[in-house]
Amino acid sequence: MKSEVITVGSEIMSGRTLDTNFRFIARKLSSIGAQVVWHTSVGDEQESMADVLRIALRRADVVVMTGGLGPTPDDVTRNVVSTVLGRNLLLNDSVLESIRERYRLRGVHMPSINERQALFPKGAEIIENKVGAAPGFLLKSDEKLLFVLPGVPLEAEVMLEQQVLPKLRGLTSTLGPEQVVLRTVGIAESVIAERVSFLDKPLEGAALSYLPHDYGVDVCLTFKSGEPKHVDLRKKAAVKQVKSILGHHLYGEGDAKLEEVVGKLLVSKKLKLAVAESVTGGMISELITSVPGASRYFVLGVTAYSDESKREILGVPEQLIGEKGAVSKEVAVEMAKGVMKRGLADVGISTTGIAGPGGGSAEKPVGLVFVALAARRKTSAKELQIPGNRALIARRASAFALDLLRRHLL
Ligand code: AMP
Ligand code: MG
Repeated sequence: MKSEVITVGSEIMSGRTLDTNFRFIARKLSSIGAQVVWHTSVGDEQESMADVLRIALRRADVVVMTGGLGPTPDDVTRNVVSTVLGRNLLLNDSVLESIRERYRLRGVHMPSINERQALFPKGAEIIENKVGAAPGFLLKSDEKLLFVLPGVPLEAEVMLEQQVLPKLRGLTSTLGPEQVVLRTVGIAESVIAERVSFLDKPLEGAALSYLPHDYGVDVCLTFKSGEPKHVDLRKKAAVKQVKSILGHHLYGEGDAKLEEVVGKLLVSKKLKLAVAESVTGGMISELITSVPGASRYFVLGVTAYSDESKREILGVPEQLIGEKGAVSKEVAVEMAKGVMKRGLADVGISTTGIAGPGGGSAEKPVGLVFVALAARRKTSAKELQIPGNRALIARRASAFALDLLRRHLL
């Protein structure tokens, strides 16, 4: 089953909006074997949209389209679909009523232009929108499936997961290639590739690709479709081989996030965490608290940016800061110890470093970061020289601090 994703919106074409819908949709479609072969983006312009849609319906079995379902005149997706498929737009009374109801509940008058959102091409199956106003729709035409979803990312995501994927799962009989993604941190892609080349037994049936991102490398194993049983055995063997190469650098599979992995470990060990941040400016606390249920293990986060706050709030000795400097292994360790004490936590982690672009020196260049960990009976710290700009240095330092914690918990 070949699929195409079309993202509609002039804001995408001008570069103002990043096309995150594509990433989400492509990941989900790939995960169920509906291989994404084409991705097209197009501005809110009827002629070009019609061209793109015609081409997509010719070459793909499934087309998922997002954007242009808003009430304003610049959103014309429904009109284009109607023209290309030759199906008139019809007013759906119950959808209109539910849009009215949304406005009534908020106590505001519904502008008449919103009525457009209740128009659907003839024969369309409505895809309910539980998050926003405009429903999407599904059209079947010559064995092809066309899903049309709103552009607002949360709406498109919920509708895709709850309504589009279940429908496709029921229809995909010929599954495409299957993928297993192994997520690593602290090891370079070339090192992984070298270790793979040293394997005594070659990987059977799996194509490897390396996907480096901000702070780690995802190793992706792609298996061609075949007899399920045969593929399954080969898959298990290949995944095991690669896992053995990755060792403790492997922190999860699929969409696993470092902060989730750390959270699960803290829960299972019944430990409380406190975080003291300088160079990461609160990013670690933000990552930790982005995980539902973080209150079970996260007790305190301090962003101590100045020497005074490191001293007064975290209890880092003034003399130590004077002797070693705020960016030093010793200060990082004291920060971790201090925040652990302050939070009555079982474990503390910390960061201090130079994010740049200014503030570096020959001795302490931009990108120099120390991450530290303090637990009841031990402390540990790591010196890092992190390449990148200010944002990347903070992101990578956050990941390395979380990884230091992960390894400690393991
Ligand atoms: P629309 O449904 O076209 O009115 O889109 C509503 C809003 O969703 C736009 O203003 C964008 O902010 C956002 N949006 C639309 N398409 C995308 C996309 N492909 N990726 C991320 N955001 C999008
Ligand atoms: Mg739009």
